[in-house]
Amino acid sequence: MKILVINAGSSSLKYQLINMETEEAIAKGGCERIGIPGGKLTHKANGQTFIVEQELPTHTDAIALVLKELVDETAGVIRSMDEIDAVGHRVVASGEAFKQTTLVDDHVMELMDEIAELAPLHNPAAILGVNACRAVMPGKKMALVFDTSFHATMPDYAYLYAIDYDDYKRYKVRRYGAHGTSHKYVAGEAAKYLGKDPADLKLITCHLGNGSSISAVKGGKCIDTSMGFTPLAGVPMGTRSGDIDVAAIDFLCHKKGMSMDEGLTYLNKKCGVLGISGVSSDFRDLAAAKDAGNDRARLALDMFAYSCKKYIGAYLAALGGLDAIVFTAGIGENTPDVRRDILGGLEALGIVLDAEKNARKNDGTIHEISAETSAVKILVIPTNEELVIARETAALL
Ligand code: ADP
Repeated sequence: MKILVINAGSSSLKYQLINMETEEAIAKGGCERIGIPGGKLTHKANGQTFIVEQELPTHTDAIALVLKELVDETAGVIRSMDEIDAVGHRVVASGEAFKQTTLVDDHVMELMDEIAELAPLHNPAAILGVNACRAVMPGKKMALVFDTSFHATMPDYAYLYAIDYDDYKRYKVRRYGAHGTSHKYVAGEAAKYLGKDPADLKLITCHLGNGSSISAVKGGKCIDTSMGFTPLAGVPMGTRSGDIDVAAIDFLCHKKGMSMDEGLTYLNKKCGVLGISGVSSDFRDLAAAKDAGNDRARLALDMFAYSCKKYIGAYLAALGGLDAIVFTAGIGENTPDVRRDILGGLEALGIVLDAEKNARKNDGTIHEISAETSAVKILVIPTNEELVIARETAALL
C-alpha cells in the first residue's frame, strides 16, 4: 500500500509518498512560492534530487506537478496515479468538530470551512491542498489527520480556559494544542524503546523546533499540552511569544498603534527568541551569537530553557510521577546545550542527564541520554509526523 502525505501551507506544499510495507518514504519533496512568482519544486527520489522551476499559480498546479514527477520516467517512483492508495492531509486545527482522523467527503469539507476561522494562519491552506488533490485525483480516498487529535483526550479541567463557560460552549474557545502527530509518534516510540505497555507509562514529550510544544502523556493519552487555542501559547518559540498576559497585548497595541490583528501578527512573527535576541529565530544562530558574547542571545536561550523547565515541573505534578522525558524536532534532536539547560537543576526530581551521552550527535536513531542513576529515562527520538499521517490514513481504509 502507498500513501501520499500532503502538508499544505499558504504558499508551499510538502509531500511524501510512503510505502506502508516498509514505512519508508520512497519520494519526498516540496513546492515553494505557490501563487507568487518564482514557483519551484524540489523532488527527492531514487537517490537523486530533482528541481523543477515552473510558475505555480495555484495549489492545484502544485499538486499536478508533484504527480507528474511521481510518475516521471527518471524522477518517478510509480507507474501511474492508481498506485497511490490514498492521500493523507495534515490539518492543524480540528476544533471540536473532529476528534479523530476523518475521511474526506463534501460534508466534511463544509465542516472544515466552518472551522477554518479557528486557525486562520493554517487551516485555509490545508483546505486548498485538499481541494487541489480532489480536483487532480477525483475519486481518490483522502483523510484529514489533525494536529489536535492526540490532544482530544485532555480532561475538561486541563483544556478549558477560565472564561465564561457559556462563551466556551458558544464559541468553542479552549485549549486544542498542536504537533499532536509528533507527540503521538514519539510517545509510541518511547514505549517501544522502553519495552513497556503505553498504558503503564507517564511521559513528558518535548517537541522543540521552530514551533515548540510540550505534552504530558499518561497511559498513552495526552492529558495536557502547552499550546493553546492556537500554536501561539506555551514556551517562547522561534518567532512566537508563547504565554503572555493578554492585558500586556492590549497595552502594547495602544502604545504601538497596532490593531488586534496586527498585534497577533506581531506576537506570531516578531517575538519569541527572535524578538528577545534581535539576532535570529534559529537556535544555531543564537548559540553562535551567545558564544561570541551577545548577551541578548544568551537571554533568549535562557528564557527558552527556563520556560521548558517550568512546563516539565508542572507536568510532572499533573502526571503524578514520571517515567521518561522525550526530546524531539530540530532543537530537541540536535541541540545538547539546550537539553542540558532545560534539565539542569532537576536532579532532585530524579532527572539526571549523562553529559557524554547528551553530547552524541543525532544520527536519526533513538538514543538514551539519561545517567545510570536517573530515575527518569531521558530519550532523544527523531520525530516522523508524515509516518503518523500515513499510518492513520491507512488505518482508516
Ligand atoms: P519546524 O518547526 O520548522 O519543523 P524544526 O523542527 O526543523 O522546525 O526546528 C528548527 C530549529 O531546530 C531551528 O531553531 C534550528 O536552529 C534547530 N536546529 C538545531 N540543529 C539543527 C539541525 N542539525 N538541523 C535542523 N535544525 C536544527
